[in-house]
Amino acid sequence: MATMTAKTERRNFRFARRMKKMNVSAIREILKVSERPDIISFAGGMPAPELFPVEAVARAHAAVFADEGPESLQYSTTEGWRPLREWISNRMKQKGIDAHPDRVLMTSGSQQGIDLVARIFLEPGDTVIVENPCYLAALQTFTSYEASFIAVDSDDEGINVDQVEMALGNSNPKFIYIVSEFHNPKGTSLSTARRHQLIELSRRHQVPILEDDPYGELRYRGEARPPLAALDRDGLVIYLSTFSKTISPGMRLGWAVSSSELMQAMVIVKQASDLHTSTVEQRAAARLLAEFDYDGHIAELRREYGARCETMLDAIAKEFPAECRPTQPEGGLFVWVELPPSISGQDLFEEALADKVSFVPGAPFFASEPKENFIRLNFSNRPPDMIREGVSRIGRILKKRLI
Ligand code: PMP
Repeated sequence: MATMTAKTERRNFRFARRMKKMNVSAIREILKVSERPDIISFAGGMPAPELFPVEAVARAHAAVFADEGPESLQYSTTEGWRPLREWISNRMKQKGIDAHPDRVLMTSGSQQGIDLVARIFLEPGDTVIVENPCYLAALQTFTSYEASFIAVDSDDEGINVDQVEMALGNSNPKFIYIVSEFHNPKGTSLSTARRHQLIELSRRHQVPILEDDPYGELRYRGEARPPLAALDRDGLVIYLSTFSKTISPGMRLGWAVSSSELMQAMVIVKQASDLHTSTVEQRAAARLLAEFDYDGHIAELRREYGARCETMLDAIAKEFPAECRPTQPEGGLFVWVELPPSISGQDLFEEALADKVSFVPGAPFFASEPKENFIRLNFSNRPPDMIREGVSRIGRILKKRLI
């Protein structure tokens, strides 16, 4: 019994100062309730589990264990498994990114890439330019290094580059963080013209861009645009991507492409962080990609998610009051809806949850002055009939509130 008491007593630990700024993620609690099977959840950013290529992944693991068992269970290099880095290098070249395998660093998800970049650049008090609203876990990472934000407005074509230019003129940010394609939470993409302008600003001010592109492969409509990394001629863009949305987030495989100098810095901090990304998973992914029709699989994801996205947009157009403004994503996993100013996303969430449907209220995504009248809806994780039903329930609540 004595040990039980000792475990539950509050100790006076002298936590690092940065812990004071790190709050429990506002959306974690929402995600926890949303996991209940009776809830139609549009809350998480999760792929559809029924579309995971489970058998092909199992076969790839079996082949790795059969042919390279001991090596696959051994420690390995921080940079990552060379055949996988070569595959990624080729894939990146198809997108116009000059990515020699020596400059591809395997990471434990692209989330670790964000952390490594933050770790090599940020000291307490430094600033980062972010699009407002912004991917929440990136804000959390930068906050953990005691950085603050220059929050720049955005519209349906992405970040406002005039404001970025002003911010670069007035202050000295360490880097610019951008989700260029199918933004989280907005679902919007940076226009091609703004991509060129941003690259020019980065070059002129010699401020790096952290381009986070986990969703680029998931385009359902419209024409692909060049990643910022494909336009960069000065080694100023660090490009991150991941297999989380195309193969499996549970495998935790992402990568960073950068200049040799930045790659070296990231390798040093990654070594101190986790030595290397899982040897088994990297080898299994390399096997999978060598034998599996990856493009065929992505085509299937595009078809299915594209249909779900369209179902959600149609249902919103039909069921939500006309005053609501959804974004019109061409890909990715999210629709972002601006509600009439009198309606708070948090209040709507609480009412919707009582009606067994959930989503994420928009306020936590803002890096400055939270706006209450936004919500983020995910469409990848539920089949079309549930999407229609869930949207219709939210629509009923909204209409009642506007009477
Ligand atoms: N960046 C963005 C914009 C994301 O939405 C996510 C996943 N939610 C990540 C990074 C992290 O993905 P990963 O699973 O590759 O760590």
